[in-house]
Amino acid sequence: MDIAATKKKLGLKERYTLMTRGLGWEPTYQAIDDVFPMDTFEGIKIHDWEAWEDPFRLTMDSYWKYQAEKDRKLYAILDAFAQSNGHLTVSDARYINTTKLFACGLAPLEYMSHRGFSHVARQFRGVGPRVACMMQSLDEMRHAQTQIHAVSNYNRYYNGMSEFRHYHDHLPYLQAAKSFFEDAASAGPFEFVIAIGFAFEYVLTNLVFVPFISGAAYNGDMGAMTFGFSAQSDEARHMTLGLEVIRFVLEQDPANVPIVQKWLNKWTWRGVRVITLVAMMQDYMLPKRVMSWAEAWEIYFEENCGALFRDLARYGITMPPCVEQIRKERDHLSHLAWCAFYQSRSSLNFQLWLPSAEDMDWLSAKYPETFDRYYRPRFEYWADLEAAGTPFEASGSPMQCQVCQIPLMFPEPDEPLKLAQRHRHYKEEQYHFCSDYCQEIFDDEPEKYIQAHIGTHEFLKGNCFGPDVDSTAEGFDPLAAALAFWRIADGKDNGLFTGSEDATNFDLWRGLAKTNV
Ligand code: FE
Ligand code: ZN
Repeated sequence: MDIAATKKKLGLKERYTLMTRGLGWEPTYQAIDDVFPMDTFEGIKIHDWEAWEDPFRLTMDSYWKYQAEKDRKLYAILDAFAQSNGHLTVSDARYINTTKLFACGLAPLEYMSHRGFSHVARQFRGVGPRVACMMQSLDEMRHAQTQIHAVSNYNRYYNGMSEFRHYHDHLPYLQAAKSFFEDAASAGPFEFVIAIGFAFEYVLTNLVFVPFISGAAYNGDMGAMTFGFSAQSDEARHMTLGLEVIRFVLEQDPANVPIVQKWLNKWTWRGVRVITLVAMMQDYMLPKRVMSWAEAWEIYFEENCGALFRDLARYGITMPPCVEQIRKERDHLSHLAWCAFYQSRSSLNFQLWLPSAEDMDWLSAKYPETFDRYYRPRFEYWADLEAAGTPFEASGSPMQCQVCQIPLMFPEPDEPLKLAQRHRHYKEEQYHFCSDYCQEIFDDEPEKYIQAHIGTHEFLKGNCFGPDVDSTAEGFDPLAAALAFWRIADGKDNGLFTGSEDATNFDLWRGLAKTNV
């Protein structure tokens, strides 16, 4: 390298500049567009890749040093948690169900994010964004690993986690989260970075890693607390990267503004739909609660996103129109989700329970506009049925939205008791949507979304049975065959929490830890 050394020791900024500038070259025997074929088809115009400023300059050596230090602390705590039977010190065994959602719903997304960013790191012709994406790709790999390791401490003792990879690919309810990432990863590189950097990092992970992880800590899960806080310092960097990409693209050419606006509209909605799962975890699955979903939402979405869009206004970016509906759904989301999961608990890898009288009083206080009016009566009715020994369970498969893949369970924004359903006829086929916004996303790229693998539809088509299953045999039980295909141990992994193997074992082991028997 023929760069003259002017000082003995370079500062971080200079080292970062040396690492990310002047590394590219003009190809002579290949056209530059053939070397980077992916970064133009979305219509984004970049005139000066050098104008890219990575907001979080980090060189490889400082990166490894910093991450290794975090990992040493994290694994020391995970070891201590395992050695002292930390799983028995959590608030109660209901909490452990949240770790199942974490392992199956979130950790695989971190891995998808790792793959996506390594892919994108090859596609930008600017060196600065390539290096930034590569760094984020490494972080995401680490997040997947640390989350899986932290949850593996529970997997030794409790059901519903050991098949987490298989569940991620096949279990219908997890396809909502998976399809979010597949949608992004199959888009172009700019859309991917904005989708993940903005919707996943800014809208979603903040809510997962701050309020939800505080809840995990409050419930005694030192492992989740430590990986959460260890990941959060990376997330701050990822959010900044996402925002920097948005600004960079907007500053490069005014023609980029409407494209970015369309992506922000789409991914705000996609992010909010996926977060339904977190809303439910926070309000219904934490035995000890720190704050309600609505309170967390106010701080981490309404305030933060409001500030972000005010900041982007100078480029001509406006608040996505879906925000109004999001505001109306805020006080319904967690209740709708818990009701939907309760009814379809056979096909899940975690267990459900009805909120106690105390839980319901807390929910009424936190949701004065909605809980008593729309949801308490349902829970009380189901509690009566449970007490009578005839717990309610839905017998059919719900219709799922072709875009977000969540069952059609959301109400019309202004009519909380009316189910929202949208339909579109496209190429001889009927498609269903949960909302105007999901339908809008479909209408923009129908050829993409008709390929969606919709869990319950695949079940009805007979695609959720093993290869040796004869569905024409007498007495064929499609649900049993599907559970076997999904690798759900019926009666162990699914169903009601009360009386479950996990609940019984937890009480037994905790009793042993506290007595001389
Ligand atoms: Fe991550
Ligand atoms: Zn939808």
